[in-house]
Order: sequence, then C-alpha cells, then structure tokens
Amino acid sequence: MAGKLDTATREALIARVRFYRDLGLTEFYRRPVDPALLAKLAAEAAAEAQIPAPPPDPDQIPLQTPGAPSFPRPLAERVGDDEPESRNPEDHPIAPRKPIPAAPPVGAAVAAAGRASALQLIVEEIGDCTRCALHKGRNKIVFGDGSPAARLMFVGEGPGADEDAQGIPFVGKAGQLLNNMIAAMGLKREEVYIANVVKCRPPGNRTPEPEEANTCTPFLFKQIDVVRPQVLVALGATAATYLLGQRQPLAGLRGRVHAWRGMQLIVTYHPAYLLRDPRQKKEAWADLQIAMRELGLKSPGKG
Ligand code: URA
Repeated sequence: MAGKLDTATREALIARVRFYRDLGLTEFYRRPVDPALLAKLAAEAAAEAQIPAPPPDPDQIPLQTPGAPSFPRPLAERVGDDEPESRNPEDHPIAPRKPIPAAPPVGAAVAAAGRASALQLIVEEIGDCTRCALHKGRNKIVFGDGSPAARLMFVGEGPGADEDAQGIPFVGKAGQLLNNMIAAMGLKREEVYIANVVKCRPPGNRTPEPEEANTCTPFLFKQIDVVRPQVLVALGATAATYLLGQRQPLAGLRGRVHAWRGMQLIVTYHPAYLLRDPRQKKEAWADLQIAMRELGLKSPGKG
C-alpha cells in the first residue's frame, strides 16, 4: 500500500504518525482504505506543497497535517519572533502580587443561534480599547476565533507577534501545534473556540501583568459565558490562574476535571512550552484525553 503513495502524501502521513508518537500513541489499527479519502489527502498534500515550507523546526514538530484545515500562515518576517523565552508561563510561575478579583456572576445563557451576535456585542463593548497599557503596542485586538457554539474552548495567555498582526489567536508556531493537538482529538479548528486571557500583545511576549489581565478577563468571562462550551481547556499557568482565580503550580491543577461555572475545566501545558520541551507532549495528550472523554470523543487508534 505504502508503495502506491506519492511522496507528499507519504511524508504528510509520516509526519502525522510521528506527531501521534510524540503524544505517546504507538498502537495503530488499519482500517480498509477509502480511495476517495486517499485522493483527497493527496490533493491537500499537493496543495500544501505549493506553499513555501516554514523554517525547519528543531523538534521536528509537524506544522501541518493532512486532513487538518489550513489557516493563515504566520507572516514570513515574523516567524521566530513569536515565542521568545518569556512566553513560557510554566517556566515563570506567577508571583503572588495583586489579588485576582472574584469572577463575575455567570451570564444568562444565549441560544446557539444568537451567540455570534452576542459575541459581536462584546467586540463592540471592547471597542478601540485603551483600558490598560497593552493598547499602546498593539496592532490588532485579538478577540477570539472559532465556532460560537463550540463544545470545546481553549484559553491561552495572550497574542504573540503573528496574532497581533493578523488579529486571530494562535496562528504562530504555538498555534500550529495547537492545530495539531485539535486535529489529534479528531476535531477541526473551526469546530472549537479559542481566546486568550489578554486581547492585546504584551511587549516582547512577556506574561501579562496582573493589572492587564484583570482588566481584560471580564470580557473573556463574558465570551466564555456566551459560547458556554461543555469543556474549557486552560493552556498554561496564566490561563489557569486567571480562570480559576488561584495561583497554584500547574502540576497541582493538571490531570483532572475542575467543575467551573457550570463547565468542565481542564488545565494543560501551553503549546509554546511544549515547543520548548516536547517531552511534555505526552502529559498534555493525557490532559486532552480527559477532555475527549468528557466530550464523548473516541481516542484515535481505539477502533
Ligand atoms: N500564545 C497565546 O497564549 N495565545 C496566542 O494567541 C498565541 C500564542
């Protein structure tokens, strides 16, 4: 069978299998091959091949997988500018400085059909925001992305350079890893919803100051209450801290379900941290499998 694959498809499949191995998935079951699916994969891989490849990644993390939707690529001149040392909340536990204000009461439920316009009202309320110092360096406010009726939502820390340029969360290198994680869960990026603790890029990708985060999170809470996902995944310590309202090492928060505002909240590593320490991908995958279990999604490789 493998001998019949063209090179691009073969390489894309190898990258996908390598990604699953990184996650600790090593057993695969062969299903009968659907020729239509194979043709689709080949066409997508061929289309991918037309796009200039990103710079080689030292960790060999596949940046694109067959079957996964394609998203705006990072601006070439900004690649590498995205995740400097400071964008690793796990490396820099948040100092116990300012208290985290209590979360606002849960907003009224919005019917699925009204969620897009409810989110638009929040965008309008934010307006051309100058509520904190982050507005001074931003190009675009990064509000959120994905399905307003998503059952699964991810919350990151704050926009990086690519996100600031495009106004879309998680489109840089960390975003490409997040896309892979979503695809590994058997979902498409457009089926989930993605937002951040702060909506403007912190200078040099530093961790948002408590004042900045505390100014921005009321809008995040509103957004979450509108989308009202069944499962919310906090990516990294900053998201976990400001969602749960407690500063605690990530190790004590991961690996379990937190009952939170009528939802199930799961804490895992930030993809930028996983790019720096790929050995932790297995742990992150275990967290995502908890999310999948809660959502009733089957693990790949389990028939
Ligand atoms: N890191 C984040 O926390 N959010 C983004 O949107 C991109 C990188």
